[in-house]
Amino acid sequence: MITVLGLPFDRNSSYRRGPAAAPVHIRQAFHSDSSNRWTENGIALGSLPQWQILDELQSLDRERAFEQIESAVSETLGAKARLISLGGDHSVTYPILRAYGKQYPDLSMLQLDAHPDLYDEFDGNRYSHACPFARIMEENLAKRLVQVGIRTLTGHQREQAQRFGVEVIEMRGISRADQIVFNGPVYLSLDMDCLDPAFAPGVSHHEPGGMSTRDVLNIIQNLRGKLVGADIVEFNPERDLHGMTAMVAGKLLKEIMGKMMEES
Ligand code: MN
Ligand code: MN
Repeated sequence: MITVLGLPFDRNSSYRRGPAAAPVHIRQAFHSDSSNRWTENGIALGSLPQWQILDELQSLDRERAFEQIESAVSETLGAKARLISLGGDHSVTYPILRAYGKQYPDLSMLQLDAHPDLYDEFDGNRYSHACPFARIMEENLAKRLVQVGIRTLTGHQREQAQRFGVEVIEMRGISRADQIVFNGPVYLSLDMDCLDPAFAPGVSHHEPGGMSTRDVLNIIQNLRGKLVGADIVEFNPERDLHGMTAMVAGKLLKEIMGKMMEES
């Protein structure tokens, strides 16, 4: 079973709010009659019972949000389902991984992002959306972290990447992404700003020089390893144009589901 769950939380965004509203827009795009429910690898999602979209978590307050997210994810994994979460700023990946780390001790992570999100702290907040992968690596919640699409490395974050043994494939060396091979379970953390703003304008941090939608689809479809979970974060509907980023997120959701079903 694949469970899709919305996480309406953006209180750890450093620059703009908005990703809390993402889940409903992604669900609408996914269900839109402008397309169909077939994945590119030939799976007819519409006629299959192996997935469900839950109502999004409600009333995530800032103090307890991480606990609420971790326990909701633990519940899903305990029921032997694989989770795809929608929305939220990127800080939500830390509590998600706290639940995943317990279930999968040999977990690898693939992060698609313009930013490494490895700051020790940002604006005095250790749980900022600029910090989740520092927390994840400190707590050994993943045995391996591969980042792809990065184009904003600072000196501090280069040091952090070295300290934690993070494998960084910068955008300027993106062709190396074809060579990644994972052994065992893989978790995909997909920050919508990995895409070039031309393809996905609905994000808080426009960082030019990013991936095309097809680049991201190629990475998902050709992923070597067993995909056991994923998040789609940082979509900010307030910045979107004609719902185009919502449609990209909906398409990515569909293809992530297709990839997971191909393996099961
Ligand atoms: Mn991020
Ligand atoms: Mn980012």
